[in-house]
Amino acid sequence: MHELSIAQEIISIAEQYFSSDEKERVKSIKVKIGKLQNVLPDSLEFCFNALIQNSKMEKAKMVIEHIPIKLECKSCGDVSEQEGFLFVCIKCGSSKITVVSGNELTVSEIEFEDSPTNQEVLP
Ligand SMILES: [Zn+2]
Repeated sequence: MHELSIAQEIISIAEQYFSSDEKERVKSIKVKIGKLQNVLPDSLEFCFNALIQNSKMEKAKMVIEHIPIKLECKSCGDVSEQEGFLFVCIKCGSSKITVVSGNELTVSEIEFEDSPTNQEVLP
């Protein structure tokens, strides 16, 4: 299951970076998920919540930030947001396009309880 391995990955990132004391204070984990990853948000949240049960991070909430698919056309230079999975320029119809965003799958921010500042996670 795609979502389960992503949830495991997100948790292992947090485990890698924080001490057990810090893990107990994790309030939320913000993840950026590009539309191209084809992730079901409900399913990912379910897996995440199941995995953190009875762990030090069991109070943590996952916050999903959805990143739309953006394509840049190499023919006319247009950058457009793509709703479906059709990879042609919506302006001129060219298929010479590059993906600008939509491939993201990263932990962008972890928020702690009793902590005024958020800690950035650097990959
Ligand atoms: Zn174009």
